Amino acid sequence: MEEKKSTEYIDEINRIRAEKNVIILAHYYQVKEIQDLADFVGDSLALSQKAASNDADIILFAGVKFMAETAKILAPEKKVLLPDMNAGCSLADSCKADDFKKFIDANPGRTVVTYVNTTAEIKALSDISCTSSNAVQIINSLPEGEKIIFAPDRNLGNYVMNETGRDIVVWNGTCHVHEEFSLEAILKLKSENPGSKVIVHPECELPVRMVADYIGSTAGLLKFTKTDPGTSYIIATEPGIIHQMKKENPHKKYITAPPKDSTCGCSECNFMKLITMEKIYKCLKDEKPEILIDGKLISDAQKPINRMMEISKKLGL
Ligand code: SF4
Repeated sequence: MEEKKSTEYIDEINRIRAEKNVIILAHYYQVKEIQDLADFVGDSLALSQKAASNDADIILFAGVKFMAETAKILAPEKKVLLPDMNAGCSLADSCKADDFKKFIDANPGRTVVTYVNTTAEIKALSDISCTSSNAVQIINSLPEGEKIIFAPDRNLGNYVMNETGRDIVVWNGTCHVHEEFSLEAILKLKSENPGSKVIVHPECELPVRMVADYIGSTAGLLKFTKTDPGTSYIIATEPGIIHQMKKENPHKKYITAPPKDSTCGCSECNFMKLITMEKIYKCLKDEKPEILIDGKLISDAQKPINRMMEISKKLGL
């Protein structure tokens, strides 16, 4: 039997989503066809805000599991679907609840701030959530002198520590995409493309951050390329975002920073790319796989996210 092309699912997806009152939320790291299909595309913060405020009966999350879990935590009355339950996250996996509980116990008296890239169990152990868009502002909103635990990303944690000057103990987790950018390759690209600006996600290692012209979250990088007068950028984050950059400014040049392992040659997140048009279609049709979380865990995990949302709202983020 001949295989369907991914675009051939679009009509069926559109029919089902209208019939079932579905909202499709997609992360910037999805392939461009899925970004274009979605009702809303954003980074973790914007997607959380959208999950918490929409009129749909069903949320289909084109992203990874911790994001779909966050949507369920914020909208427990809705059915939340994730087209592939194997769409995990190396960063979320690097912080297991039992180990993290021991870490908190070993560092008593500290406010626990965790990046939204964590499981529901880790959120339930946290005081405040944050995203790479608002981590610095969230930490700065805490009273001077308050001691902090930051998890799970060590690079983002070190970046936040440098930016805020606060007393922070950082969990030793990493994202396999952002950890892997090659400084040497970035410097080579810069010399081959004079005038290009290096723009970097804060989950990247310090040497890569040190050569950056701009450091920001995925949404921050998008905004930068939109408003900056420059015309060429070397981009050290997941390349899915380049689709939106091209849409905003098609005449600018966007160069993907390569990873250290040149045999792989690309810096895509393999978890994000598990979501396909065919899986979205099947998931909408069958209404599974569905994200299911215990009620008590939902209410415990809601607290740090709600606190983040309140602070973000107050600061106008
Ligand atoms: S890019 Fe990194 S942090 Fe984002 S989902 Fe993939 S593994 Fe997780």
